[in-house]
Amino acid sequence: RLQRLRARLAKSNNSLGKGLLALLSSDKIDESVWEEIEETLLLADIGTEPTMQLVDTLRERVKVMGSRQPEEVRAMLREELIALVDPAMDRSLAVQRHGEQPAIVMVVGVNGVGKTTTVGKLARVLVAEDKDVLLGAADTFRAAAAEQLATWGARVGVPTVKSDLDGADPASVAFEAVKAGIEQEVDVVMIDTAGRLQNKVGLMDELGKVKRVIEKQGQVDEVLLVLDATTGQNGLNQAKVFSEVVDITGIVLTKLDGTAKGGIVVAIQKSMGVPVKLVGLGEGADDLAPFDAEQFVDAILN
Ligand code: GDP
Repeated sequence: RLQRLRARLAKSNNSLGKGLLALLSSDKIDESVWEEIEETLLLADIGTEPTMQLVDTLRERVKVMGSRQPEEVRAMLREELIALVDPAMDRSLAVQRHGEQPAIVMVVGVNGVGKTTTVGKLARVLVAEDKDVLLGAADTFRAAAAEQLATWGARVGVPTVKSDLDGADPASVAFEAVKAGIEQEVDVVMIDTAGRLQNKVGLMDELGKVKRVIEKQGQVDEVLLVLDATTGQNGLNQAKVFSEVVDITGIVLTKLDGTAKGGIVVAIQKSMGVPVKLVGLGEGADDLAPFDAEQFVDAILN
């Protein structure tokens, strides 16, 4: 399975790694080549600051390099990209029961980014680790969303708490879900939330309220922000909006299978100071992987 994920990641990010390697291996790296390198990084959505930083470092290192054998260039680029993705960040998920409490995970993000799918996939991962999981459908705005979550729940064999009423209060559904999770002594309660950005103020009020109501019964251990990798810099704006109302503890970057813009990982981490913890690599139940800095860089350099 890991092989398959690697292959996908490699395919999706090809243009970045291969492009950079080719450019850095040119016979003569003059100004125009450095400009191309910069462009390649910017096009991959790495962001302006990190791009400048990386190009400066690469220039310096290329200058002091004796020969430029392809293996040497590759090793150098690998080192620098790994440093950029920051392997030291803590990417573990807080999904352990504590005391009498289940771990509580809130999943937030704009509609369509892959929130519900991520909750389903993550539930499957946790179940495979022998954890008891319960889902809460606090996206009550669209009846279809709760239905979709319950379908995922049934698929991976975990219960879903939802309201049958259209437009029920999301906070009360979240409350009921956590209550049920405590009563049933599950390990993890995962709450799917709404994400219509058209009414930004309303949405943000709602999210804040959901969190506060959950906190009447226990602490929220993870707030995962789901971002769609194909939306590039737009994702950064969304991240800012959400982080104003809730403390984001980790990013899930979905649809990495459909983009050459894997560099957004760097941009997001730099701008938010929050690690990418998981990546979505397809629509299937198994297409979720922990983010690993070295693996990620190896995949894009493949
Ligand atoms: P939500 O509105 O944020 O809950 O988004 P959904 O979970 O309903 O997902 C929206 C669409 O994106 C669906 O068609 C999903 O199958 C698709 N999707 C979710 N994650 C991924 C992923 O990692 N890769 C791909 N290719 N599609 C995904």
